[in-house]
Amino acid sequence: MSKCLFCKIIAGQIPAQKIYEDDEMLAFFDINPAAPVHFLVIPKKHINSLLDLEADDSALIGRLLFKAKELAKQQGCEEKGGRFVINAKSDGGQTVDHLHIHFLGGMALGPSLLAGKQG
Ligand code: 5GP
Ligand code: ZN
Repeated sequence: MSKCLFCKIIAGQIPAQKIYEDDEMLAFFDINPAAPVHFLVIPKKHINSLLDLEADDSALIGRLLFKAKELAKQQGCEEKGGRFVINAKSDGGQTVDHLHIHFLGGMALGPSLLAGKQG
């Protein structure tokens, strides 16, 4: 049995507030939301992080991102937008080692870490 927290959510061993599920992905609200709308989209296949993605997974990550976009719209964030985030490994602040896309919306998030660092 997997020790991975998100694999346990996929297996139904830990409850989650699901907003979408199909054969290859699951989306659910973050347990500790950092914004009024904060959900995660994860593949059912265990992949440690974006840095562990293989060529065969490239279409999958595209579908995960597309679904994140659709769900952000469903959550009422189409007009004002929000932030899609993928943390990867320790320097990226990844705390759950199962690839996930965050969506944060429903409030003005302020400048990202990239603000002022370009050019
Ligand atoms: P990371 O820091 O790895 O990018 O994000 C992991 C996210 O998973 C965090 O925002 C955290 O609040 C969320 N999380 C951790 N444990 C659980 C859980 O048991 N259920 C849900 N729904 N979210 C969780
Ligand atoms: Zn996992």
